Amino acid sequence: MIANHGYKDGSGEYYISIDTDKCSLCAEHGCLDGCPGQVFEIEFDDWDEEVATVRARERNKLKQICAACKPVSGRLVRLPCQIACGSEAITHSW
Ligand code: SF4
Ligand code: SF4
Repeated sequence: MIANHGYKDGSGEYYISIDTDKCSLCAEHGCLDGCPGQVFEIEFDDWDEEVATVRARERNKLKQICAACKPVSGRLVRLPCQIACGSEAITHSW
């Protein structure tokens, strides 16, 4: 399942999508330490599988929190969270 976490406003849509099928097979949980904004946490889904999610208190602040990883120029091809996740489970909408 693809779980989308974030929000949209007049300036755009700011969602982090997580492929929870990949999370359920992940033992490392590299996203937790790999994100300097501490955006992610692990929770049990409806099937009792451990999956990554975006902390509720951060969901409406993703544009601001992720800005440090997304410079206007010289933007990284892969974000720190995507590098930390060895399963390519994380995508961003912006
Ligand atoms: S590292 Fe990737 S696959 Fe593992 S829990 Fe985090 S987002 Fe899911
Ligand atoms: S872009 Fe940076 S702050 Fe945002 S989720 Fe990825 S690693 Fe964390």
